[in-house]
Amino acid sequence: MTLPSTYPDGNCSLARTLEVVGERWTLLIVRDAFFGVRRFGDFATQLKIPRAVLANRLKSLVQEGVLTRDEDAGTGVEYRLTAKGVELWPVVRALMNWGDAFYSPAGVRRALRHDRDGGLLDPEGRCQDCGSVVPVPEVLIEPGPGFEPEDSDADPVSRAINTPRRLLEPITPVPAGRP
Ligand SMILES: [Zn+2]
Repeated sequence: MTLPSTYPDGNCSLARTLEVVGERWTLLIVRDAFFGVRRFGDFATQLKIPRAVLANRLKSLVQEGVLTRDEDAGTGVEYRLTAKGVELWPVVRALMNWGDAFYSPAGVRRALRHDRDGGLLDPEGRCQDCGSVVPVPEVLIEPGPGFEPEDSDADPVSRAINTPRRLLEPITPVPAGRP
């Protein structure tokens, strides 16, 4: 028996939201989009997700208006967060905070800073330095004390993600063998 893809509780917006982002892998795809991943192959490499599942999830995120699918002659197909998709950031941030609090005894795995002044963000996304709620494009993400480095032959997409970078800034790894 396959599980139904909709929840019966039509009166709960959480149930409705989970229909959009509650499937396995979907929030990780959204997270990677915040980290600057845009290309199908890069999502596949970074998440080690079966390509058919990835294609399915990307299609439904595009249908729901969370991602756009742009085809450009120079760069090929790119998936980017829409304004609606960017509004999922507090959700992603809160779930990462919760995971750090309860499942990462060595400290946060990824630290969030305000790119303008280097201030750390508090759990509500407020800069502890200047006190402002930091807009997504000004959030710098970097490995924190709980970060466990992967082996040195990690793929270029993972390497880029694990280097301090601003959210939404596109990852464009140089293909192997090219300067
Ligand atoms: Zn600040």
